[in-house]
Amino acid sequence: MAGRPAGQSTIVPNANVMTLPAIRQEVWNFSTLIPSLQSKQASMEWLACRRLLRNELRCAACDVDCRLNAHAKNVDACRWKCTTCGARKSIRDGSFFSGSHFTLQQVVIVQLLLVKRHAAERPAASGGH
Ligand SMILES: [Zn+2]
Repeated sequence: MAGRPAGQSTIVPNANVMTLPAIRQEVWNFSTLIPSLQSKQASMEWLACRRLLRNELRCAACDVDCRLNAHAKNVDACRWKCTTCGARKSIRDGSFFSGSHFTLQQVVIVQLLLVKRHAAERPAASGGH
């Protein structure tokens, strides 16, 4: 099937979705994150790569893959749409920030801060004084 720009069935190619060990080992800081925060699209891809957004959605009623459709009025500028029955779903559906009013850029920052705090609460591996 020819891919239309607005009709892709995954946010990022499935091969780009990171494994859980890779996600856990990844070192995040603001300088590496900033390119991911420059657009809604970039933030959405960053979250999908890290399994914080589902990368694809199957319509429960039709059992077909939904397509990613541009939707200017949506906070995320796009949403899932089933091309068979026309059902629409937020790309946040099923995510921990489903229903939140944060932008995806803010979600990325919150996620980074949570990870940093979690790391700070754990005792350092190599001992202090
Ligand atoms: Zn459907």
